[in-house]
Amino acid sequence: MNPSKYIWLNNTFIDWGKANTHVLTHALHYGSGVFEGIRAYSTKKGPAIFKAKEHYERLLKSCKCYDLICPYNISEFIAATKKLILKNDLPSCYIRPIVYTDYGSIGIIPKNSTYTSAIAVWEWGSYLGDEGIENGIRCIISDIMKTPSQAMPSTAKSCANYANSFLAKKKALTQGYDEAILLNQKGNVSEGPGENIFIIKNNVITTPPINDDVLKGITRDTAIQLAKDLDFEVKEKSITPNELLESDECFFTGTAAEITPIKEINDKKIGNGSKGPITHQIQQLYFDIVKGESETYSSWLTFCEEE
Ligand code: PMP
Repeated sequence: MNPSKYIWLNNTFIDWGKANTHVLTHALHYGSGVFEGIRAYSTKKGPAIFKAKEHYERLLKSCKCYDLICPYNISEFIAATKKLILKNDLPSCYIRPIVYTDYGSIGIIPKNSTYTSAIAVWEWGSYLGDEGIENGIRCIISDIMKTPSQAMPSTAKSCANYANSFLAKKKALTQGYDEAILLNQKGNVSEGPGENIFIIKNNVITTPPINDDVLKGITRDTAIQLAKDLDFEVKEKSITPNELLESDECFFTGTAAEITPIKEINDKKIGNGSKGPITHQIQQLYFDIVKGESETYSSWLTFCEEE
């Protein structure tokens, strides 16, 4: 990773190297933290944060789900993020806000706890590689089950959820694939370790509904809207592993993964084994928007250099 100069920690800017925490921090032991992943892109008008409000709304909802006390509201978080990007002199970056339970009490339910809110920003290229964005990645349907929402709500972006993602992704990489696809308890396709998934069959675009234990991804919502605006039919409907394998096109969405085509699943080619034409259209529009090259969707961007 590329360290930056400053981190925003409980409303002050501190040196990157001084943003440390105690070994007995509650969140480190029990996963009692929630976080976000946001991107800012380089545009003609300087760095622009994509869907900042939606991300901080989700962060505060995740806090509520786990009773984490966060004293900052959405506009305070957005103002802090803008300042942090400018202070670090970054034309584009990945943004990682986190709210977690501090050091203080080590039982499962911490007594008289305090909470930290922090934001880190750093330069980060394509999560699944430039080659993956261009030509697609190879995935495997994981035998690690997606944690059911009755156990851990998939709509809250909790640190603890990522133990499940870690196991699935680690296994996929060990087996020689680029990424895992997790099935839920019902055996339906759920999502990737850090991505939502879409399939295309006969020009109809389908993504699993939220109750198939998926995170309500902000890129997922974006892709749904863009696909509809491009006049495609979009369905939120359960997907079986067979439907996944028999699809004409398939792609992942996510802030880190952006729009990444899936060219192969379980060693079987999807479509002709490269980026499909509909995926290409959605991906191209997405990149135009985030890079500030589309007037129509410019309200999704927060420019850092504007007061
Ligand atoms: N699912 C999971 C499990 C994720 O971690 C992410 C990344 N936040 C996504 C889906 C995609 O969500 P978003 O588009 O909001 O980044």
